[in-house]
Amino acid sequence: MERYEGKSIFRKIAMGKIFFYEKNNSVVKREKIEDTQAEQRRFETARAKAQEQLQNLYEKACREVGEAGAAIFEVHQMMLEDEDYCESILNIITRQGVNAEYAVAVTGDNFSSMFASMDDEYMKARAADVKDISERLVRVLSGNDNDMNDLEEPVILVADDLAPSETVQMDKSKLLAFVTEHGSANSHTAILARTMNIPALIGVPIQKEWNGKLAIVDGYEGTLVIDPEQELIDKAQETMEEEARKEKLLKTLKGQKTVTKSGREIHLYANIGSVADTGGALMNDAEGIGLFRSEFLYLESDHYPTENEQFQAYKTVAENMAGKKVIIRTLDIGADKKVDYFNLDEEENPALGYRAIRICLTREEIFRTQLRALLRASAFGNISVMFPMIISVKEIQKIKEILASVKNELKEQGIEYKDVEIGVMIETPASVMISEELAKEVDFFSIGTNDLTQYTLAIDRQNPALDEFYDAHHPAVLRMIQMTIENGHKGGAWVGICGELGADMELTEKFVEMGIDELSVSPTFVLPLREIIRNMD
Ligand code: PEP
Ligand code: MG
Repeated sequence: MERYEGKSIFRKIAMGKIFFYEKNNSVVKREKIEDTQAEQRRFETARAKAQEQLQNLYEKACREVGEAGAAIFEVHQMMLEDEDYCESILNIITRQGVNAEYAVAVTGDNFSSMFASMDDEYMKARAADVKDISERLVRVLSGNDNDMNDLEEPVILVADDLAPSETVQMDKSKLLAFVTEHGSANSHTAILARTMNIPALIGVPIQKEWNGKLAIVDGYEGTLVIDPEQELIDKAQETMEEEARKEKLLKTLKGQKTVTKSGREIHLYANIGSVADTGGALMNDAEGIGLFRSEFLYLESDHYPTENEQFQAYKTVAENMAGKKVIIRTLDIGADKKVDYFNLDEEENPALGYRAIRICLTREEIFRTQLRALLRASAFGNISVMFPMIISVKEIQKIKEILASVKNELKEQGIEYKDVEIGVMIETPASVMISEELAKEVDFFSIGTNDLTQYTLAIDRQNPALDEFYDAHHPAVLRMIQMTIENGHKGGAWVGICGELGADMELTEKFVEMGIDELSVSPTFVLPLREIIRNMD
């Protein structure tokens, strides 16, 4: 039995086998092969396995995001059957007498460059797909294919670090817990763990040899135990049963109003990052969606999501929530949320850089596509739209101009939409200071305390080395929240919190006293917060 300590992200316990996740950035080596026929067969076996993985991915995506979003995996399957592509690989193996990995990598590079040089935009975009399938084949060939779809039982995922673009592609039903060596408590991966209601630890020195071993992740103690003794297994089992009992008890609060004893009602909404997350929001009786991080649709995809793909996603969430409020945040890409196909330049200070609304206002075609999709979906439910990283009144006025122009376009085309409520995220000190003016422009504010804390305290939220300086209850942040609420109300806007601080139960009473109207939190926090608020005077 070995015991390791880390920083806990979510207080829960899990027990299961470890799955060691490795990034696939290894360089492919050229090796001489004697038996080229056997090497060709090795390639064919890998191709069949890659096809199977793609079929699984296709079926999963169909279930989670619908057929339109899944179509890309069908394209990949077709490419894997392409005669020219396969012939090139087989020829390189026999003519040069080299390993299949090398033949696949060379063919992938050649085909990808060929597509990239074409004039046709559709064909150009296929360059990334050829690269993608070639990388998949190399992974399978080298026995380094971290495809969670192959797992039969849920696992504890151990990794060096996880980027949002990686976590978003994982099969959530197969995850019992996360353990990483790097990463910060305020990262989006940590937020995902809370959304998924699973324990997570960061800062644990990980080892590849743990793969397949039984382990316990204890989010209360902040420990990982490998090969636990029977006594510890029994204790963990007991804690899990206790957790299940508590969850059951909380479920009795389903259907109840979130209202203090003196009659003040607070709206409790859920934060989600995908269409599939609406299940958790409904199960936990969220009264609406207070933050749909729409950029995760972009992170899941290998191309700019089309208007129709986005429309389907927003419409599904709106329909699933059956008339309850659904606040969708427009694209907040940049900083830790990186997408290759945006071709963003490397920046010295990405958190202070070209991100979120700054991209939308300078690459208007991306923004207009999203707004069209959002407005079209608004006809199918109760959608509101909010904008991230606002720092000036000028920005919101420009946004409103673009929104009006998109509405006009839809009207002329006879396409139905509703006049959606609009809001800004208050997540920069600048927006707090001008909140009185901003309130006159919008229907609501949603305070993004994750970024607001980062920018107020000048602490990079991704840097774990700064955790000891990070004070979530810093009076500067709390005063900013107070000021935002007062100014919002003065200007006629309702005010909510959608950052992680909204779920901090030590502050719930304070927020209610400050006059907060709404709290939007990871789905599993909805019922515990309802319990606290219902017990308040
Ligand atoms: C925030 O900054 O508080 C927020 C809700 O947005 P994100 O965490 O996605 O940056
Ligand atoms: Mg933010």
